[in-house]
Amino acid sequence: MAWRMDIQPLNPGLYIVATPIGNLGDVTRRAVETLERCAVVACEDTRVTGKLLNLLGLHRPMRRYDDHASEAAREALLAEMVQSPVALVSDAGTPLISDPGYRLVREARARGITVTAIPGVSAVVTALCMAGLPTDRFMFAGFLPNKDKARGDVLAELASVPATLVFYETGPRLVASLEAIAQRMAGREVVVARELTKLHEECRGGAAADLARHYTNHPAKGEIVLLIAPPGEAEAPAGDVIDDELRAALAEMSTSQAAGKVAKAHGLDRKALYARAMELKA
Ligand code: SAM
Repeated sequence: MAWRMDIQPLNPGLYIVATPIGNLGDVTRRAVETLERCAVVACEDTRVTGKLLNLLGLHRPMRRYDDHASEAAREALLAEMVQSPVALVSDAGTPLISDPGYRLVREARARGITVTAIPGVSAVVTALCMAGLPTDRFMFAGFLPNKDKARGDVLAELASVPATLVFYETGPRLVASLEAIAQRMAGREVVVARELTKLHEECRGGAAADLARHYTNHPAKGEIVLLIAPPGEAEAPAGDVIDDELRAALAEMSTSQAAGKVAKAHGLDRKALYARAMELKA
């Protein structure tokens, strides 16, 4: 394993460089060595990246780029990476993970330009490492939609996915998201991972309804990752919402069908719901 990559200049191409999500100490040596030798750093915001480069003692030309950039801007970058090494960074963490870069990488690969990833921190993996939820299968689903109906639809769609669900979230929307999760996935453990790698790092788990109450009383500041345990991993569901839905379903169909319908809608364990439906019937 080499400590420094090599001391030759970098080959032309596109270098996807991960940067810290809060703690500067998380920048990798390879990231620094790549940034210091690239011809230009493409970035979302030259003020944010300028600050990082300054802290690292690097002075490289920067170019603003995101996936909504004009065709001309993308073409100019692609032409440049045929001749010289071009780095792409985002404001924080790994580029392309809920950040720009997908179109640039796709186009570069289509043209036979070498694409190299310089891996590092990403909030999704950092949160998974701390949350204490299953990590053998997880699904990262970006940000939940802003509007209630769309958010509910996405949660209903994902409720039966047999994996830990991971979302990016913001403070002002956290309580609404937790309330929607409490409605759609009652009984599943939820973890709020906040301000990761920073001074006020927090990782708080529990039932979505309890977390919603907590963050109503203590509004969450900073950056947030929201994780939901896979269906069937948490306790058997109780809760008024589930009971009401089971009762409504029981009025129209068999116990087994009712349990199946509500389990599917909420991503809950079918056997546990069957047992609960039998209790309700009794
Ligand atoms: N590309 C980044 C990555 O690799 O994690 C993510 C960029 S996305 C635009 C920004 C979101 O990531 C934030 O709104 C938050 O949900 C999450 N995030 C970034 N840094 C974080 C941190 N230090 N703690 C918790 N969540 C963070």
